Amino acid sequence: KGCLFLVPTPIGNLNDMTYRAVQTLKDVDLVAAEDTRNTKNLLKYFEITTDLISFHEHNTASRIPELVEKLNSGLDIAQVSDAGTPSISDPGKELVKAAIKEDISVVPLPGATASTTALIASGISPQPFYFYGFLPRKGKERTDALIDLANRNETTIVYESPYRVQKTLADLAENFGNDRQIVLARELTKLHEAFLRGSLTQVIDYYSEHDPKGEYVLIIAGKPESKTETMSDDQIIEAINRLIEA
Ligand code: SAM
Repeated sequence: KGCLFLVPTPIGNLNDMTYRAVQTLKDVDLVAAEDTRNTKNLLKYFEITTDLISFHEHNTASRIPELVEKLNSGLDIAQVSDAGTPSISDPGKELVKAAIKEDISVVPLPGATASTTALIASGISPQPFYFYGFLPRKGKERTDALIDLANRNETTIVYESPYRVQKTLADLAENFGNDRQIVLARELTKLHEAFLRGSLTQVIDYYSEHDPKGEYVLIIAGKPESKTETMSDDQIIEAINRLIEA
């Protein structure tokens, strides 16, 4: 049987491609890519001539049996998305599941992802964190997600498109409160990489005067743990003694 390699690609800066990623894309028999035109350019840049096949959210159902058959027949396949790590808010997970079911080796390569790249520079506690990805766009699903996230103590990571950043910030303020700390990491690894740090009110004010541009990761501080009264051992003994005497 062949192997399924999961290969991260850069999220902006081509120098973030790893040596192993280049070598793997050269070595495999086939690259399954979210957008073949996009990946063709990447392969050209790294002088990789491996054949490409499209694998995206709209052809998952028909492609998976085809790719599994090729893997079973001995071909090695690398799966890539347009940018970053496959399966992270990108196609991949269904193919991984199908490969595991068929006892095909799944080999993940470490590499670029916007999520932890934003997290480590945010200045907000990186542990524990909760990766959410894209919020549902509307309706009850969105409301439920916002309520759930607002009550989490973990730092939350959300992906957002520039067209919805302002609306999402307004919804976050409504559910999380104006004072919750947030960091907007924009255009990571690219020329206009920037971080905006502050309370939800502060960042909303900023974006009332500036149009959001580029790709965004939102790092939102967790809900502060409610402080419960704790007693020292001496205080506990004193309290028990008082109860006994009463
Ligand atoms: N698989 C990717 C990863 O590992 O991060 C995520 C793909 S998802 C379809 C695209 C979203 O990731 C964007 O809308 C944005 O929220 C985030 N993203 C990707 N590249 C980014 C970058 N250079 N700077 C900031 N956010 C980025």
